[in-house]
Amino acid sequence: MSGAMERDPRPRVGVLAIQGDVEAHARALEGVGARPETVLREKDLDGLAGLVLPGGESTTIAMGLERLRLYEPLRAFAEAGNAVLGTCAGAILLARSASNHPVRTLGLIDLEARRNAYGTQVDSFSAFADPPEPEEAAAGAFEGMRCVFIRAPRLADLGAAVEVLARVDGAPVLVRQGRVIACSFHPELGDDPRVHALLLAEVLPEVLPKVLPEAVPGAG
Ligand code: GLN
Repeated sequence: MSGAMERDPRPRVGVLAIQGDVEAHARALEGVGARPETVLREKDLDGLAGLVLPGGESTTIAMGLERLRLYEPLRAFAEAGNAVLGTCAGAILLARSASNHPVRTLGLIDLEARRNAYGTQVDSFSAFADPPEPEEAAAGAFEGMRCVFIRAPRLADLGAAVEVLARVDGAPVLVRQGRVIACSFHPELGDDPRVHALLLAEVLPEVLPKVLPEAVPGAG
């Protein structure tokens, strides 16, 4: 690594690069001020402040995680308090369990991911995030966000520790449990930076009031 890279002040955020939208996530991370790095081996996680598990095909990604022996290292990375964002297939892998063609999951967020539950006939659509429910103040930060669904999972049977950050047609599409964030749509498609900004805010809490003032009571 060059001296210039060593001095790069941006937080380093990994993108699991087994399959999926790796490039688009890297661009989105750069857009919110992170330095993206691809992750394919345990040692790639060293020193990262956060990690994205992209969408793609969870069966394929799960096979890659087995082959690369990454299940335990990824779990340890999240359990050490690092921020992790899983989108679409990545959200399936974060879940407690996956149904409708189960795959081995990481069990980092207390929900069941129902694979392809948005339908296989209509493979792809976009919709806008609902106005927040009165008891879900944080959801206001994501109101009107355009969400692209591609054979998306439903985020179902949420445990008490799971907070809903955005819904579409009443169903949770962006949720968090501590610093583990699951998103059923593809935030890297389109130009709305809010989900990547949320991850970065977890990596560097002091940036949250600047990038997402609506999410911080009393800020902005
Ligand atoms: N349907 C895929 C799965 O079950 C997810 C699709 C996606 O990531 N866009 O793994």
